[in-house]
Amino acid sequence: MKAVVFEEVGLAGIHEREVPSLDVGEVLVKVAATGICGTDRAILLGEFPARRGVVLGHEAVGAVAVVGSGVGSVAPGDRVVINPTYYCGRCRPCRRGMPAHCPAKAGREVGVDRDGTMADFAVVPERFVHQLPASVSYRRGALVEPLACVLNNLRAAQPRWDDQVLVLGGGPIGALCAMVLARRGARVTLAERDPGRVEIARRLLPRTVRVLAPEEAAGPGRQASDVVIDTTGSVPVDVLSAVAAGGTVVVMGEREAGVATVPLRALVTRGIRLVGAGPYRPTDFELAVDLARDLPLEELVTHVLPLERYTEALALLAVAPDGPGRSSPGHGYGAMKVLLASDESLTS
Ligand SMILES: [Zn+2]
Ligand SMILES: [Zn+2]
Repeated sequence: MKAVVFEEVGLAGIHEREVPSLDVGEVLVKVAATGICGTDRAILLGEFPARRGVVLGHEAVGAVAVVGSGVGSVAPGDRVVINPTYYCGRCRPCRRGMPAHCPAKAGREVGVDRDGTMADFAVVPERFVHQLPASVSYRRGALVEPLACVLNNLRAAQPRWDDQVLVLGGGPIGALCAMVLARRGARVTLAERDPGRVEIARRLLPRTVRVLAPEEAAGPGRQASDVVIDTTGSVPVDVLSAVAAGGTVVVMGEREAGVATVPLRALVTRGIRLVGAGPYRPTDFELAVDLARDLPLEELVTHVLPLERYTEALALLAVAPDGPGRSSPGHGYGAMKVLLASDESLTS
């Protein structure tokens, strides 16, 4: 089978790999498509550690091809979405309902240190495949995993129905936050600087979401927001002046280089909560599958390309091609969500 493999920082390649074999309780999924995520981008740019030789990708949909012995919840032909957060279920964080912080995940993070889904096939333990409702297309289902992430972080924000919400960053995660919040009736402003992304966000998001440049969305003389969600991983100090007294800042984007100096007094005197929530719980994933029946998530998919065209796909996400498989940070986004498809019917 074909697979997109991380070779070293800046370098990926298409490799021919054996179709992986199945263990007890595992499912072989014929991958239809994988969404390219900020994490994949960060791995290639050397901003997120990953194992050399790993197959990239973790936001995947496909059909069950073969089931291993003992598998009972899915059968060949079932359309599924993969939950790539392989928690153990036994450690203290898992037992306390925080499997996203399971220490046993290290070494089994899909597309990071365990082979991922930018391939024709992927092996997944049974409890991490979820059936897609019949009404949810692959294009839409590919956004379930990022939606689950968004749901967990929105829960941490605890928004009220009359809140003014500011979302920093107009990539897929920011756009999903805005989409879900707007559905709940919140007044949402999305702050994005990249002209390409601003244009795409304006076109794709509900009319109730205002898409503005960061300096227009927050700062002196602008209305303070009750909730600020930072999807960029670079919370600027003045974000604290953009949040209303008693408000909440959720740090959702994460980058190794993301360091902020926080004036602690502002947190105390203005009653501001600064929150990190991380990825989802299994129940968020189930909720995301369910919400996908109703939310037009596929509208965020701007491009679907076959695996072989991964360099081009990355270039759309501001990763500049520097020769075959080589990449470095580029300028300007030409896309929102880009899918790499193994299933030809999705690209034709
Ligand atoms: Zn992701
Ligand atoms: Zn655990």
